[in-house]
Amino acid sequence: MRRSSKELAKMRRAGKVVAEMHEVTRAAARPGVTTRQLDLAAREVLERRRATSNFLGYHGFPAVICTSPNDVIVHGIPGDYRLAEGDILSIDCGAIVEGYHGDAAFTMAIGEVTPLARRLIEVTERSLWAGIEQLRKGNRLHEVGRAVQQVAEGAGFSVVREYVGHAIGTAMHEQPQVPNYWPGSPGPTLKAGMVFAVEPMVNAGGPETKLLDDGWSVVTADGSLSAHFEHTIAVSDDGPEVLTVP
Ligand code: MG
Ligand code: MG
Repeated sequence: MRRSSKELAKMRRAGKVVAEMHEVTRAAARPGVTTRQLDLAAREVLERRRATSNFLGYHGFPAVICTSPNDVIVHGIPGDYRLAEGDILSIDCGAIVEGYHGDAAFTMAIGEVTPLARRLIEVTERSLWAGIEQLRKGNRLHEVGRAVQQVAEGAGFSVVREYVGHAIGTAMHEQPQVPNYWPGSPGPTLKAGMVFAVEPMVNAGGPETKLLDDGWSVVTADGSLSAHFEHTIAVSDDGPEVLTVP
């Protein structure tokens, strides 16, 4: 699906709201704060910007952000969990403006973290940017996954297979999917106006995942740390345009 310049303008606005939710939750996340407090801070941004949440109510999800500490890969539910010095925390959130969606995530250190945790965060973010770099017209979509995988595995980490990126527009999750690994075929040819959410999930240990009893939280099967970075990006005539920025 190719988006018109009018549609892209709305997606930029949604992206700015998501970027502000990131800014506010990042500033609030410190030892002693609960993940529910971060969700409340993100809700205030949505209200202030008159945007709606694409997370709240999604298959019954009860919050506007996902908070995924340590071995939680994605989809952690905000609640009573109190952040502690040495944690890493992934925050994923989105917003809808005039029917158009933005979606982005980041992982941060809570206070001082181990060198391994710091490196995992740095490598995962770098793998996202390597993927984004591939979103150029004429290129094939699955070059994104190949680039992400090269960075993550090159650093000795692993890439989650069961959860992937996606096209995005008038729904948060549109086809096609954007795997974070080479799926064995090059995928569709990219054209200007296509918009994707690229979102590497990188584990310090093996790539296997496990779903917790809450029905949402996805954790690493081996208990190792996991990081997650995501942006919403449009393929433009001049290269990738990241929409989820201030
Ligand atoms: Mg997301
Ligand atoms: Mg996403």
